[in-house]
Amino acid sequence: MSSPPRTDVPSLQASAGQLPLHGRVAIVTGGAGGIGEAVTTHLATLGARVVVAYIGDPAPAEQLVASLNSAAVPGMGTRAIALCADVSDPAQVERLFDAAQAAFGPNLHILVTAAGVQDAAYPAIADTEPEQWDRAFAVNARGTFLCCRQAAQRLVRGGGGRIVTFSSSNVASLRPGYGAYVATKAAVEAMTKVLAKELAGTGITANSVAPGPVATPMFYAGKSEERVKAVASQCPMKRIGEPTDVAPVVGFLCSDAAGWINGQVILANGGYI
Ligand code: NAD
Repeated sequence: MSSPPRTDVPSLQASAGQLPLHGRVAIVTGGAGGIGEAVTTHLATLGARVVVAYIGDPAPAEQLVASLNSAAVPGMGTRAIALCADVSDPAQVERLFDAAQAAFGPNLHILVTAAGVQDAAYPAIADTEPEQWDRAFAVNARGTFLCCRQAAQRLVRGGGGRIVTFSSSNVASLRPGYGAYVATKAAVEAMTKVLAKELAGTGITANSVAPGPVATPMFYAGKSEERVKAVASQCPMKRIGEPTDVAPVVGFLCSDAAGWINGQVILANGGYI
């Protein structure tokens, strides 16, 4: 005899109001490419309305936003907009937050700083040019700081404020090479932990996600097919990650369920250190 259908299991055909991030507004920097694109899609799927912050060619951001808005969720309205901003420029970051509030209302809940740069190669510290060091710091460290600064001023105080920055599992491994890049990510981790303590008690959490090697334009830049295979073979799981391996970690940190996780660095690296 078959058991009667359960009535306590929510329908998968959720209307907007049933989605875990319903009513939340998120800004995702670097939100139109690589890991940021997967984060944008994931947060939108969880019900957030997303500001896709991009730099350069608007086409990928506009296509992403169009595809999210064409897949309507009953009761949700506009799911995403695209806004251009160079995260290393304080005036552009301020305008980004102004425009996000003008579009989706004053209540901002989530900031994810996925924008970042990495040169195809970094020499040893002894051979690193000051300009290369400064380029990495301008976007990765200063850009993350400028966005977090605006978020700390503007995110809604209460249960739902979430800041997720991006580090790298290279900070945990500290192998020789990539020193300028790794230093930017160590700065991001330290700033995120301080910010978490400064905001503790406001309902806003701040955490960092540290991916291992993930299949994005940043990872592939300057790598031969052999080099990609070599990195994959060094991974305990014998593959590099996909952006969709990382996005759900961000989604969880943005959820109500993660309210007790604060000031942490979550490695999403398949065990690769
Ligand atoms: P990606 O290069 O694919 O995406 C980075 C995004 O940042 C791009 O869309 C780019 O346009 C944007 N960006 C660059 N400079 C900007 C600026 N000045 N202002 C605004 N946006 C800017 O890289 P990804 O692999 O998706 O990286 C996402 C994050 O994850 C980065 O912070 C990166 O350092 C980190 N990360 C990536 C890996 C990896 O293997 N892919 C590993 C560890 C950490």
